[in-house]
Amino acid sequence: MSALAPIVIVGGGIAGLATALGLWARGVPCVVAESAREIVPLGVGINLLPHGVRVLTELGLAETLAEVSVETRAIEYRSRDGRLIHSDPRGRHAGMAFPQLSIHRGNLHTVLYRALLDRHGDDAIRPGLRLRSLERRGAFVHACFEDRRHGGEVRLDAEGLIGADGVMSAVRAALRPGEPPPRGSGIVMYRGLSWARPMLDGRTMVIAGVHEHKAVLYPVRPPRRDGLQLINWVAEHGERFGGDTAAGDWNRPVDREAVAERFAHDRFDFADVPALIRSAEVCLSYPMVDRDPIDAWVDGRVALIGDAAHPMYPIGANGSSQALLDAEAIAECVAASPQDLPAAFAAFQTRRLEAANAVVLANRARGPEKLLQLADERLAAGEPAAGEPILSGETIDAVTMAYRRTAGFERESLEAMATRPRLWPQTRPSPAPRPGP
Ligand SMILES: Cc1cc2nc3c(=O)[nH]c(=O)nc-3n(C[C@H](O)[C@H](O)[C@H](O)COP(=O)(O)OP(=O)(O)OC[C@H]3O[C@@H](n4cnc5c(N)ncnc54)[C@H](O)[C@@H]3O)c2cc1C
Repeated sequence: MSALAPIVIVGGGIAGLATALGLWARGVPCVVAESAREIVPLGVGINLLPHGVRVLTELGLAETLAEVSVETRAIEYRSRDGRLIHSDPRGRHAGMAFPQLSIHRGNLHTVLYRALLDRHGDDAIRPGLRLRSLERRGAFVHACFEDRRHGGEVRLDAEGLIGADGVMSAVRAALRPGEPPPRGSGIVMYRGLSWARPMLDGRTMVIAGVHEHKAVLYPVRPPRRDGLQLINWVAEHGERFGGDTAAGDWNRPVDREAVAERFAHDRFDFADVPALIRSAEVCLSYPMVDRDPIDAWVDGRVALIGDAAHPMYPIGANGSSQALLDAEAIAECVAASPQDLPAAFAAFQTRRLEAANAVVLANRARGPEKLLQLADERLAAGEPAAGEPILSGETIDAVTMAYRRTAGFERESLEAMATRPRLWPQTRPSPAPRPGP
């Protein structure tokens, strides 16, 4: 079977769905082809930085997202033994025009998915289509999919194809045959969600430890009636990748007890990390990987966005926000030049490539988490004198401001964007189911 669509988006994750919403809102029809047979809420916690929230606000989703997320007040960087190095106010608490949100990825994904169906109908997305190959001929791209729902093969012919198919992108592999697999950092991230008493003020994210051994903790939902709050935890540990991790497989369960043992000493007065790990329904593992930045995401009528274009370490919590910036940029460029998709895709690349690649490299250099290393070195050299901070205000400002500038969420640039017109009024799509326990 073959069908013609103006634009096919391969991958219905965060980048793919946000691009579809942005294209439709600007009057450009498109269809999303997603490999999963069913669209169900997957993943654990994720952070949306203010620049990502801005894109979602323009798509009319801020109100719905606010109901299923926590507005992050601050990130606290803490030493191996839990001492406060720096409390970094976030989003509106830092005077920015948009909040930072901590959210279950499944909730974010569901909000995008429901909005796409409610606004543009069930045909806007075709689940169960896994891209196998693509061929470029003249003014068309012919994409061939395995039909995982009905069996057999489906062909979609498009004027343009956007690869939003994540870190193991098949679209990227077609554009760059022979490219090596994603590059490991030597760190495995164990991840899970646990109900617990609110940590600190119930709106704070904590990053405690050093690069090779740290805990990242944040609440992703407002407290329940019984006072418990869903806390996302990521326990990162340096080790050679064993058989229990695979880039691209975000749902690989591992033995909770073994991970809790590894973090047995991370018991702080604000959170008991081994207890959080033990009380999680499931513990997932994922290798911290990225790819070397490349100098082209576009080849004529085919473009890459999100993790397919620039997978990055989740240091600095920027993966989904950079994907959302891509989604906005490509939708704007296509809407500005719908008759000439190669030119539109080239304009998108000019707008985003350098900026996103810089974030990949900044994250590889540990981004704002450099503070952890600097503090660890400082403490190893001896205890600070009474009243002396672990790190000076100048050191902290230099690290945090440099990262904000690189990632594009410093206050001034967000203020300048705050007056942009909304593409869609703030509406509540059908209620997002709450995944998890
Ligand atoms: C199941 C899942 C769980 C995740 N959980 C977390 C998490 O807990 N925390 C976190 O920080 N990040 C998580 N991520 C990654 C995070 O969503 C991304 O890093 C970020 O949001 C950028 O989004 P993206 O749309 O570029 O990629 P992704 O969100 O990874 O989306 C890629 C999409 O493409 C689809 N796809 C892949 N190959 C094909 C193909 N050949 N044909 C058609 N479709 C294809 C995938 O099924 C997926 O829906 C998860 C990703 C996935 C897919």
